[in-house]
Amino acid sequence: MRTPVFDAHVDSLQRALDLGDDLGSVTGGHLDLVRGRIGGLQAVVLVCWVDPVHMETKQAGARCAQLLDQYNALLERHPKLVTFGGNGALVEAARSRGLIAGIAGIEGGHSIEESLERLEEFFEGGVRVMTLVWNNHLSWIRSCREGAGPDTPQGLSDFGRDVVRKMNQLGMLVDLSHASDQAFWDTLEVSDRPVIASHSGCRAVNDHPRNLSDDQLRALGESEGVIGAVFCTPFLDKGCAEALVRLRESEEHEAIDEGNEAATFFARARFLQESAPPLPLTRVCDHICHAAELAGVEHVGIGSDYDGIDHTPQGLEDASRYPALAAALLGRGFTEAELEGIFWGNMARAFACATGEGTRAAELGAPASV
Ligand SMILES: [Zn+2]
Repeated sequence: MRTPVFDAHVDSLQRALDLGDDLGSVTGGHLDLVRGRIGGLQAVVLVCWVDPVHMETKQAGARCAQLLDQYNALLERHPKLVTFGGNGALVEAARSRGLIAGIAGIEGGHSIEESLERLEEFFEGGVRVMTLVWNNHLSWIRSCREGAGPDTPQGLSDFGRDVVRKMNQLGMLVDLSHASDQAFWDTLEVSDRPVIASHSGCRAVNDHPRNLSDDQLRALGESEGVIGAVFCTPFLDKGCAEALVRLRESEEHEAIDEGNEAATFFARARFLQESAPPLPLTRVCDHICHAAELAGVEHVGIGSDYDGIDHTPQGLEDASRYPALAAALLGRGFTEAELEGIFWGNMARAFACATGEGTRAAELGAPASV
């Protein structure tokens, strides 16, 4: 079957900035809009992820703005392929015109540099989704990873709550992938709009801190939120995670050095893709089936994390491959209507609700530049 695809989380903008890749043409890596279109891609959240090392030099916001410039340049360069997905109505309009709705996201709240004004500037620049925290803990929110200091709140601080309220008011979708359990619960309490976990799996299927517990899945469903099923194999499968750790420690992997960080990451990813034991895509289905059971089938979507991961399940090697997952899910008993919801409708509904009536996003048609 063929369904339109809304991918809630991809990291491809980094390739555009650091390697000069034009995402409107066929490139290396996992995702560009040409291969995406072959796979049915009609909306995609292109995130600005900033390495926390840039916080040390107070350049996190500046680096984020550079990535956002890449997003806006992509829209300008390829108007026949991609258009600004600034709210639910614009996303649907793009789809009806046969265009991909490009949605700008920020992954990791360190890019707003503890400033609601900076958050608003990014909104004005086009950002409509923010993953509150990445793997590094912040003064106002704890990550799901270990290593938090004594000053890190368990969940959200008062400022963290203000960030969520501000996002609700502007019309920016709140994303809880990477957040600590307490930050998840605090955000659900504060947010008056549905939230998503854009790229996560299920802890009951594979016990990993980046995956959601059954209680979190139920709560996400009850609050009209959506989990985006991730393609990151270490989150999906313990055996695969262990095999990847061994390979990453190998001399062969270490020896790959392309002279710059981004090029080295993608070269090493190619090595891992070839060398690691393949993970069948039915493992992604296991997580989707469990999420549908707990959260409800209307609360499951797709968030591949393409170009942010260094190993994909077999059959999902790039953005032209979404239909293979749809076919596998058909075999697991989902109806075509349910699959249209998982690949498109559920995430589109949460995005429309977060950016809709009563928000600034609902009023705005096009981004200014940051
Ligand atoms: Zn991530």
